[in-house]
Amino acid sequence: MKSLITGGAGFIGSHLAEELLNNGDDVYVIDDLSTGSIENIEHLKVNSKFHYVIDTIMNEPVTAELVDRCDRVFHMAAAVGVKLIVESPVRTIETNIKGTEIVLRAANKKKKLVIIASTSEVYGKGDNIPFKETYDMVLGTTKNGRWSYACSKAIDEFLSLAYYKEKKLPVIVVRFFNTVGPRQTGQYGMVVPTFVKQAIMGHDITVYGDGSQSRSFTYVGDVVKGLLGLCDNKQAIGDIFNIGHGDEISICELAKLVKSMTESKSEIVFVPYDSAYEAGFEDMQRRSPDISKISELIGYKPTLGIREILEKVIKYFKES
Ligand code: UDP
Repeated sequence: MKSLITGGAGFIGSHLAEELLNNGDDVYVIDDLSTGSIENIEHLKVNSKFHYVIDTIMNEPVTAELVDRCDRVFHMAAAVGVKLIVESPVRTIETNIKGTEIVLRAANKKKKLVIIASTSEVYGKGDNIPFKETYDMVLGTTKNGRWSYACSKAIDEFLSLAYYKEKKLPVIVVRFFNTVGPRQTGQYGMVVPTFVKQAIMGHDITVYGDGSQSRSFTYVGDVVKGLLGLCDNKQAIGDIFNIGHGDEISICELAKLVKSMTESKSEIVFVPYDSAYEAGFEDMQRRSPDISKISELIGYKPTLGIREILEKVIKYFKES
Protein backbone atom coordinates (compact mmCIF):
# COMPACT_ATOMS: atom_id res chain seq x y z
CA MET A 1 0.00 0.00 0.00
CA LYS A 2 1.26 3.48 -0.89
CA SER A 3 -0.01 6.28 1.32
CA LEU A 4 0.31 10.02 0.78
CA ILE A 5 0.24 12.20 3.89
CA THR A 6 -0.30 15.90 3.25
CA GLY A 7 1.15 17.74 6.23
CA GLY A 8 3.26 14.67 6.97
CA ALA A 9 6.01 16.65 8.70
CA GLY A 10 3.50 17.96 11.20
CA PHE A 11 2.84 16.59 14.65
CA ILE A 12 0.06 14.09 13.85
CA GLY A 13 1.24 13.48 10.28
CA SER A 14 4.73 12.44 11.34
CA HIS A 15 3.38 9.95 13.90
CA LEU A 16 1.10 8.55 11.21
CA ALA A 17 4.04 8.24 8.78
CA GLU A 18 5.98 6.31 11.40
CA GLU A 19 3.15 3.85 12.02
CA LEU A 20 2.52 3.29 8.29
CA LEU A 21 6.21 2.58 7.73
CA ASN A 22 6.15 0.14 10.67
CA ASN A 23 3.29 -1.62 8.89
CA GLY A 24 5.44 -1.94 5.75
CA ASP A 25 3.70 0.73 3.66
CA ASP A 26 5.38 3.12 1.26
CA VAL A 27 4.89 6.61 2.62
CA TYR A 28 4.91 9.84 0.62
CA VAL A 29 4.82 13.15 2.45
CA ILE A 30 4.17 16.66 1.17
CA ASP A 31 4.68 19.49 3.64
CA ASP A 32 5.57 23.17 3.24
CA LEU A 33 7.08 23.26 6.76
CA SER A 34 4.88 26.23 7.66
CA THR A 35 3.98 24.60 10.98
CA GLY A 36 5.55 21.17 10.49
CA SER A 37 9.28 20.67 10.85
CA ILE A 38 11.99 18.64 9.19
CA GLU A 39 13.09 17.31 12.62
CA ASN A 40 9.75 15.51 12.90
CA ILE A 41 10.65 13.30 9.93
CA GLU A 42 14.45 13.27 10.23
CA HIS A 43 14.48 9.74 11.72
CA LEU A 44 12.29 8.41 8.87
CA LYS A 45 14.61 9.48 6.06
CA VAL A 46 16.80 6.37 6.40
CA ASN A 47 13.84 4.16 5.44
CA SER A 48 13.86 3.46 1.70
CA LYS A 49 10.06 3.35 1.73
CA PHE A 50 9.89 6.95 2.95
CA HIS A 51 9.69 9.77 0.40
CA TYR A 52 9.09 13.45 1.01
CA VAL A 53 8.58 16.65 -0.95
CA ILE A 54 8.92 20.07 0.63
CA ASP A 55 6.22 22.04 -1.14
CA THR A 56 2.77 23.44 -0.58
CA ILE A 57 -0.33 21.42 -1.46
CA MET A 58 -1.43 24.59 -3.30
CA ASN A 59 1.09 23.57 -5.98
CA GLU A 60 -1.54 21.64 -7.89
CA PRO A 61 0.64 19.71 -10.40
CA VAL A 62 2.94 18.48 -7.61
CA THR A 63 0.03 17.43 -5.40
CA ALA A 64 -1.74 15.75 -8.33
CA GLU A 65 1.40 13.79 -9.22
CA LEU A 66 1.82 12.54 -5.64
CA VAL A 67 -1.86 11.60 -5.33
CA ASP A 68 -1.54 9.71 -8.60
CA ARG A 69 1.43 7.74 -7.31
CA CYS A 70 -0.37 6.61 -4.12
CA ASP A 71 -3.33 4.35 -3.27
CA ARG A 72 -4.81 6.58 -0.58
CA VAL A 73 -4.43 10.06 0.86
CA PHE A 74 -4.38 11.21 4.49
CA HIS A 75 -5.13 14.90 4.14
CA MET A 76 -3.65 16.34 7.31
CA ALA A 77 -2.25 19.62 5.94
CA ALA A 78 -4.13 22.47 7.56
CA ALA A 79 -3.64 25.62 9.56
CA VAL A 80 -3.23 24.62 13.22
CA GLY A 81 -3.34 26.29 16.60
CA VAL A 82 -5.84 28.86 17.83
CA LYS A 83 -3.13 31.50 18.30
CA LEU A 84 -1.93 31.13 14.71
CA ILE A 85 -5.49 31.16 13.44
CA VAL A 86 -6.29 34.40 15.25
CA GLU A 87 -3.04 35.98 14.02
CA SER A 88 -3.15 34.73 10.38
CA PRO A 89 -6.81 34.40 9.38
CA VAL A 90 -6.19 34.72 5.60
CA ARG A 91 -3.72 31.89 5.60
CA THR A 92 -6.02 29.74 7.74
CA ILE A 93 -9.01 30.12 5.46
CA GLU A 94 -7.08 29.78 2.21
CA THR A 95 -4.98 26.79 3.27
CA ASN A 96 -7.94 24.91 4.63
CA ILE A 97 -10.34 25.51 1.77
CA LYS A 98 -8.13 25.73 -1.34
CA GLY A 99 -5.82 22.96 -0.16
CA THR A 100 -8.68 20.54 0.35
CA GLU A 101 -10.20 21.46 -3.03
CA ILE A 102 -6.92 20.60 -4.75
CA VAL A 103 -6.52 17.28 -2.89
CA LEU A 104 -10.10 16.17 -3.57
CA ARG A 105 -9.93 17.15 -7.25
CA ALA A 106 -6.71 15.17 -7.69
CA ALA A 107 -8.01 12.12 -5.79
CA ASN A 108 -11.22 12.11 -7.80
CA LYS A 109 -9.40 11.41 -11.07
CA LYS A 110 -8.76 7.80 -10.10
CA LYS A 111 -11.14 7.62 -7.10
CA LYS A 112 -8.44 7.32 -4.43
CA LEU A 113 -9.58 7.04 -0.81
CA VAL A 114 -9.16 10.34 1.05
CA ILE A 115 -9.16 10.64 4.83
CA ILE A 116 -9.95 14.24 5.70
CA ALA A 117 -8.66 15.60 9.01
CA SER A 118 -11.29 17.85 10.52
CA THR A 119 -11.70 19.20 14.02
CA SER A 120 -13.87 19.29 17.11
CA GLU A 121 -13.93 23.09 16.57
CA VAL A 122 -16.85 22.47 14.21
CA TYR A 123 -19.07 21.81 17.25
CA GLY A 124 -18.27 25.38 18.29
CA LYS A 125 -20.04 26.66 21.37
CA GLY A 126 -22.48 23.79 21.60
CA ASP A 127 -23.07 22.79 25.22
CA ASN A 128 -24.61 19.38 24.71
CA ILE A 129 -21.64 17.36 26.02
CA PRO A 130 -20.38 14.86 24.91
CA PHE A 131 -20.56 15.85 21.24
CA LYS A 132 -22.06 13.34 18.85
CA GLU A 133 -21.27 13.49 15.14
CA THR A 134 -24.90 14.39 14.39
CA TYR A 135 -24.96 17.53 16.58
CA ASP A 136 -25.41 21.04 15.18
CA MET A 137 -22.55 23.47 14.72
CA VAL A 138 -22.94 26.44 17.08
CA LEU A 139 -20.60 29.15 15.88
CA GLY A 140 -20.10 32.80 16.80
CA THR A 141 -20.09 35.94 14.67
CA THR A 142 -17.83 36.34 11.61
CA LYS A 143 -16.35 39.42 13.33
CA ASN A 144 -14.61 36.94 15.63
CA GLY A 145 -11.72 35.39 13.69
CA ARG A 146 -11.62 32.21 15.77
CA TRP A 147 -14.71 30.86 14.07
CA SER A 148 -13.10 31.06 10.63
CA TYR A 149 -11.23 27.90 11.47
CA ALA A 150 -14.39 25.96 12.28
CA CYS A 151 -16.13 27.37 9.20
CA SER A 152 -13.25 26.54 6.86
CA LYS A 153 -13.09 23.00 8.21
CA ALA A 154 -16.87 22.69 7.91
CA ILE A 155 -16.55 23.66 4.23
CA ASP A 156 -13.89 20.93 3.88
CA GLU A 157 -16.33 18.44 5.37
CA PHE A 158 -19.17 19.60 3.08
CA LEU A 159 -16.94 19.43 0.04
CA SER A 160 -15.64 15.95 0.88
CA LEU A 161 -19.12 14.60 1.47
CA ALA A 162 -20.29 16.28 -1.74
CA TYR A 163 -17.54 14.50 -3.68
CA TYR A 164 -18.67 11.25 -2.08
CA LYS A 165 -22.33 11.82 -2.90
CA GLU A 166 -22.04 13.32 -6.36
CA LYS A 167 -18.87 11.72 -7.73
CA LYS A 168 -18.62 8.50 -5.68
CA LEU A 169 -15.21 9.49 -4.34
CA PRO A 170 -14.44 7.40 -1.23
CA VAL A 171 -13.87 9.82 1.66
CA ILE A 172 -13.79 9.50 5.44
CA VAL A 173 -14.03 12.61 7.66
CA VAL A 174 -12.42 12.49 11.10
CA ARG A 175 -12.83 15.10 13.83
CA PHE A 176 -9.86 15.32 16.20
CA PHE A 177 -10.24 16.38 19.84
CA ASN A 178 -7.13 18.01 21.36
CA THR A 179 -4.57 15.49 20.15
CA VAL A 180 -1.38 15.65 22.21
CA GLY A 181 1.93 13.84 22.63
CA PRO A 182 5.66 14.13 21.93
CA ARG A 183 6.71 16.44 19.03
CA GLN A 184 3.77 18.80 19.47
CA THR A 185 5.11 22.31 19.82
CA GLY A 186 3.71 25.05 22.04
CA GLN A 187 4.67 27.59 19.37
CA TYR A 188 1.10 27.84 18.06
CA GLY A 189 -0.53 28.12 21.47
CA MET A 190 -1.39 24.50 22.30
CA VAL A 191 -1.85 24.15 26.00
CA VAL A 192 -0.10 20.87 26.91
CA PRO A 193 3.33 21.58 25.37
CA THR A 194 3.08 25.19 26.56
CA PHE A 195 2.43 24.23 30.20
CA VAL A 196 5.05 21.47 30.23
CA LYS A 197 7.74 23.77 28.81
CA GLN A 198 6.81 26.56 31.20
CA ALA A 199 6.94 24.17 34.17
CA ILE A 200 10.31 22.66 33.20
CA MET A 201 11.86 26.09 32.63
CA GLY A 202 10.44 27.50 35.88
CA HIS A 203 8.41 30.14 34.04
CA ASP A 204 4.86 31.13 35.00
CA ILE A 205 2.24 28.60 33.88
CA THR A 206 -0.26 30.74 31.97
CA VAL A 207 -3.88 29.70 32.47
CA TYR A 208 -6.14 31.71 30.16
CA GLY A 209 -9.44 32.94 31.57
CA ASP A 210 -10.36 31.46 34.96
CA GLY A 211 -9.20 27.95 34.01
CA SER A 212 -12.63 26.40 34.53
CA GLN A 213 -12.85 25.54 30.79
CA SER A 214 -12.20 21.87 30.13
CA ARG A 215 -10.84 19.69 27.34
CA SER A 216 -10.48 15.97 26.59
CA PHE A 217 -6.91 15.19 25.58
CA THR A 218 -6.12 12.27 23.30
CA TYR A 219 -2.76 10.57 22.83
CA VAL A 220 -1.47 10.91 19.27
CA GLY A 221 -0.74 7.15 19.09
CA ASP A 222 -4.41 6.42 19.80
CA VAL A 223 -5.46 8.88 17.10
CA VAL A 224 -3.19 7.16 14.56
CA LYS A 225 -4.65 3.73 15.45
CA GLY A 226 -8.16 5.15 15.01
CA LEU A 227 -7.26 6.58 11.60
CA LEU A 228 -5.83 3.30 10.36
CA GLY A 229 -8.76 1.29 11.70
CA LEU A 230 -11.21 3.53 9.85
CA CYS A 231 -9.47 3.40 6.51
CA ASP A 232 -9.45 -0.39 6.65
CA ASN A 233 -13.23 -0.48 7.09
CA LYS A 234 -15.46 0.03 4.03
CA GLN A 235 -18.41 1.01 6.22
CA ALA A 236 -16.53 4.15 7.29
CA ILE A 237 -16.66 5.57 3.76
CA GLY A 238 -18.89 8.59 3.26
CA ASP A 239 -19.17 9.18 7.00
CA ILE A 240 -17.87 11.37 9.86
CA PHE A 241 -16.16 10.12 13.04
CA ASN A 242 -15.00 11.73 16.27
CA ILE A 243 -11.57 10.53 17.37
CA GLY A 244 -10.86 11.48 20.96
CA HIS A 245 -10.86 10.47 24.59
CA GLY A 246 -13.96 10.60 26.79
CA ASP A 247 -12.27 11.98 29.96
CA GLU A 248 -12.33 15.71 30.65
CA ILE A 249 -9.99 17.88 32.71
CA SER A 250 -10.23 21.60 33.47
CA ILE A 251 -7.32 23.76 32.33
CA CYS A 252 -6.71 24.82 35.93
CA GLU A 253 -6.47 21.17 37.02
CA LEU A 254 -4.19 20.49 34.07
CA ALA A 255 -1.86 23.31 35.18
CA LYS A 256 -1.72 21.85 38.72
CA LEU A 257 -1.08 18.35 37.41
CA VAL A 258 1.76 19.51 35.15
CA LYS A 259 3.28 21.50 38.03
CA SER A 260 3.20 18.52 40.39
CA MET A 261 4.39 15.95 37.85
CA THR A 262 7.38 18.11 36.89
CA GLU A 263 8.00 19.07 40.55
CA SER A 264 8.16 22.62 39.27
CA LYS A 265 8.44 25.80 41.31
CA SER A 266 6.55 27.75 38.62
CA GLU A 267 3.64 29.95 39.64
CA ILE A 268 0.24 29.31 38.08
CA VAL A 269 -0.98 32.68 36.78
CA PHE A 270 -4.30 33.67 35.22
CA VAL A 271 -4.22 35.66 31.97
CA PRO A 272 -7.37 37.34 30.61
CA TYR A 273 -8.44 36.01 27.21
CA ASP A 274 -8.30 39.51 25.69
CA SER A 275 -4.56 39.76 26.30
CA ALA A 276 -3.85 36.08 25.54
CA TYR A 277 -5.54 36.20 22.13
CA GLU A 278 -7.38 39.37 21.07
CA ALA A 279 -10.20 41.59 22.30
CA GLY A 280 -13.55 39.80 22.15
CA PHE A 281 -12.03 36.30 21.97
CA GLU A 282 -14.52 33.54 22.77
CA ASP A 283 -13.37 30.22 24.20
CA MET A 284 -15.29 26.96 24.37
CA GLN A 285 -16.18 26.17 27.94
CA ARG A 286 -16.23 22.40 27.44
CA ARG A 287 -15.26 20.10 24.64
CA SER A 288 -15.55 16.35 24.87
CA PRO A 289 -16.35 13.66 22.30
CA ASP A 290 -18.87 10.89 22.21
CA ILE A 291 -16.72 8.10 20.75
CA SER A 292 -19.37 5.40 20.56
CA LYS A 293 -19.59 5.57 16.75
CA ILE A 294 -15.93 4.79 16.06
CA SER A 295 -15.81 2.34 18.99
CA GLU A 296 -18.73 0.36 17.64
CA LEU A 297 -17.38 0.28 14.09
CA ILE A 298 -13.72 -0.57 14.65
CA GLY A 299 -13.39 -1.32 18.39
CA TYR A 300 -11.50 1.97 18.95
CA LYS A 301 -10.54 2.48 22.59
CA PRO A 302 -8.06 5.15 23.70
CA THR A 303 -5.27 3.57 25.73
CA LEU A 304 -3.67 6.52 27.55
CA GLY A 305 -5.18 8.93 30.05
CA ILE A 306 -3.91 12.44 30.75
CA ARG A 307 -1.32 11.38 33.37
CA GLU A 308 0.31 8.84 31.07
CA ILE A 309 0.27 11.30 28.18
CA LEU A 310 1.90 13.97 30.35
CA GLU A 311 4.61 11.50 31.41
CA LYS A 312 5.51 11.03 27.74
CA VAL A 313 5.41 14.75 26.94
CA ILE A 314 7.49 15.67 30.01
CA LYS A 315 10.08 13.02 29.08
CA TYR A 316 10.17 14.36 25.51
CA PHE A 317 10.79 17.95 26.58
CA LYS A 318 13.39 16.95 29.20
CA GLU A 319 15.32 14.99 26.57
CA SER A 320 15.12 17.54 23.75
N1 UDP B 1 -4.78 27.68 27.19
C1 UDP B 1 -4.27 28.20 28.37
N2 UDP B 1 -2.96 28.59 28.39
C2 UDP B 1 -2.13 28.47 27.31
C3 UDP B 1 -2.65 27.93 26.11
C4 UDP B 1 -3.99 27.54 26.08
O1 UDP B 1 -4.98 28.31 29.38
O2 UDP B 1 -0.94 28.85 27.42
C5 UDP B 1 -6.20 27.24 27.16
C6 UDP B 1 -7.01 27.74 25.98
O3 UDP B 1 -7.52 29.03 26.23
C7 UDP B 1 -8.09 26.69 25.89
C8 UDP B 1 -7.37 25.41 26.31
O4 UDP B 1 -6.21 25.83 27.04
O5 UDP B 1 -9.14 26.93 26.79
C9 UDP B 1 -6.93 24.54 25.14
O6 UDP B 1 -6.21 25.34 24.25
P1 UDP B 1 -5.50 24.80 22.94
O7 UDP B 1 -5.01 25.99 22.16
O8 UDP B 1 -4.50 23.76 23.31
O9 UDP B 1 -6.65 24.05 22.14
P2 UDP B 1 -8.18 24.45 21.79
O10 UDP B 1 -8.99 23.50 22.59
O11 UDP B 1 -8.42 25.87 22.17
O12 UDP B 1 -8.28 24.22 20.34
